[in-house]
Order: sequence, then structure tokens, then C-alpha cells
Amino acid sequence: MGGEDEVRNKQVVLRQYVTGFPKEEDMAIISTTMKLKLPEGSAGVLVKNLYLSCDPYMRHPMSAGSGTSDYLPKYYPGSPLFGYGVSKVVDSRSSDFKIGDLVWGTTGWEEYSVISSTDRLTKIEDISVPLSYYSGLLGMAGFTAYVGFHEICSPKKGDCVYVSAAAGAVGQLVGQFAKLLGCYVVGSAGSKEKIDLLKNKLGFDEAFNYKEEHDLDATLKRYFPEGIDIYFENVGGPMLDAVLLNMKLHGRISVCGMISQYNLEKPQGIHNLRQVVAKRINIQGFLQSDHFHLYPQFRHLTLRYIKEGKITYVEDIAEGLEAAPAALVGIFKGRNIGKQSVFIARDQV
Ligand code: NAP
Repeated sequence: MGGEDEVRNKQVVLRQYVTGFPKEEDMAIISTTMKLKLPEGSAGVLVKNLYLSCDPYMRHPMSAGSGTSDYLPKYYPGSPLFGYGVSKVVDSRSSDFKIGDLVWGTTGWEEYSVISSTDRLTKIEDISVPLSYYSGLLGMAGFTAYVGFHEICSPKKGDCVYVSAAAGAVGQLVGQFAKLLGCYVVGSAGSKEKIDLLKNKLGFDEAFNYKEEHDLDATLKRYFPEGIDIYFENVGGPMLDAVLLNMKLHGRISVCGMISQYNLEKPQGIHNLRQVVAKRINIQGFLQSDHFHLYPQFRHLTLRYIKEGKITYVEDIAEGLEAAPAALVGIFKGRNIGKQSVFIARDQV
């Protein structure tokens, strides 16, 4: 520990660039120190991190060569990872944030972070819900579900909706938004526990374990005898191929992500794209960040749903910064049940 006004700042750093599935050993916990004051002339805010969010996209900047053609900034060996989190402002040079404010946005995987650019930092106004919700449900993941479903899928009452990775952060909410609109909703996930959760707690009409199905085309025909109006795509690969065979005329596919492909050296091919022509399917990829102007309306609606008991939210919260590497690696193995976040510190400075 350094001088009186210095604090310990533990960090999760990338040890080496990753190929294939990420491992805990690709990251290391190191201990540094820092002053709890922004240096003279610096901009932005200094924050204490309270929750960190584990997100599948974090795999991309772990690869050597990422960041050049991709839309994401890259990680560097020896430097802390960064991602979405919930934090408390401990020093500020920004007129938008004062000491003591709670915020969510991009921060470092460490105990304290300097956030120089505060453009995408959002002040947390309503703390009547658990603070962890802003690392998922009321943060990036929830907002992704909202824009990916409502803005991209053109949903209407009675639509037949299929959601993959349905027991995860985004999927569980897409299913619930679709049910609130009066859709028929089927989800898939990778364990019996997750299937029970989807059917008995999250209100999905049906759910199946994709790992136990040997013919995904036949499985989808069983759950959607008339076909699928909307597919919310989280996984890609063979699932997308099977879905294409089961879409209705003028069906919509919202491409949110393709987690089954993120750790492969060579992505799998898609064979049934001819269906896009024959069925006039609209396939659209999106990034939640392009729609951020809609965040206030999403927050307003979702807070109302939470308070009226219309939304159930399942979180999987790991304890402590040391647990963060395992938590992040776990989402690529399906170990998380619900939204994977990491608790770092209490809301006290
Ligand atoms: P998540 O569902 O909470 O966690 C990932 C889940 O994916 C795992 O729990 C696992 O569940 C499943 N999975 C892992 N490997 C798989 C594989 N090979 N095949 C099928 N399923 C697999 O993650 P999330 O945060 O909600 O993200 C879901 C998707 O949304 C990801 O593709 C992510 O990249 C994307 N996303 C996109 C945006 C955007 O702006 N476009 C924003 C946020 C997230 P099982 O037990 O079911 O296998």
C-alpha cells in the first residue's frame, strides 16, 4: 500500500490472447494501488466498481487481431479487461456527475476505474430495485432484449416466437416481452434446470433442451407445427439452419448474437439460406448501442413492469473480483442460470 490517500486496486488483467474457448488462466488477478483523486487537468470520473457484467461479446476483444475490423475496442495483455458495470462516483470532473452518484456503463474489471469519456455513462435514478439489475435487466442486456424484439422483429399479438439461449440474460427478457404482447413463446436452453425455469418461472409456453435433440428441424416442427413468425437469434450455427426450414412466409429473424461460433477457429456454414428468398424472410442484425436514444423509454416501461410484478428476473451473481474470470468463462459453457454478474463491493465508499 502506498501513501495515506492511496488505496489498493485489484484488477483482472488479460494474461495472453485467447484462441478457442477462454480459460480462467487466460486472465490473472493483480494488485496495484491508486489515488482516490483524479489528477489535475484530467476529465471524466473516478468510480468504485460495485457489479461487473459478464457478456459474451467480451470474447471478441480477447483474440489477437481483434479491434481492427471489429466494432469493439480490444483488450491488451497485462491490462485490465473492461465491460459493463455498476459503479459509484468517488471523484468527478464532469458537470453531469457528482461524487456519490450511482452510474452504469463501461468500466474496468478492477476495484476502481477512471472513466475519461462519460458520454455513455448513465446515472442511476431509481434505486427501489436491486442495484445489480443495472448490470443486466435495466442495463445493457435488458435494453438489448427490448430493442432486439420491439424494434427489429415488428412483433404483434398472436405471433409464434422462438428464442434461443432463452434462460440467459437477454433471452429470458425477450420471452417475457413477447408474452406480455400476447405471443406464443418457445425457448431453448442447455439443461433440465433451465427448461424448468423457462416453463415454470419465466412464463414461456414451451421450452426444450437443445442438447438432447438430435434433429433440430423435427424438434421445431413439433413446437411450431404452423411455423415460426419471429426467431430471436442468440446462438447461430446448426440452430439457425434448422430455424430457416421452419420460418413462416414473411417471418422475421432478429440477429442478436451467435455465441455458438465465438470460440471456433472456423465458423460453421449455413446451408438453408435459400429459404430466405422462398419465404421472403427478413433477417436483421442489430447492435443495442445504435438505439441508445430509446433507453429512457425502455427504463420507464421496464421499471413499471418490475413494480407491477409482470417481469421476473433471474440473476447468477458471483462473489468478488477473484470469481470474475471463472464467471466469464462459464457463460461459454452454459454454467450461468440467468444473467451472470459479479458482485465487487457494497454501495459504500
Ligand atoms: P447468456 O445467455 O446470459 O449466456 C450465454 C448462454 O449461451 C449460456 O448460458 C449458454 O446457455 C448459451 N450457450 C453457450 N454456448 C452455446 C452454444 N455453443 N450453443 C448454444 N448455446 C450456447 O448471454 P446473453 O448476455 O444473454 O447473450 C445472448 C446473446 O446475445 C449472445 O449471442 C450475445 O453475444 C448477444 N448480445 C448481443 C447484443 C447486441 O447488441 N447485438 C447485446 C448483448 C448480447 P445454454 O445452457 O442454453 O447453452
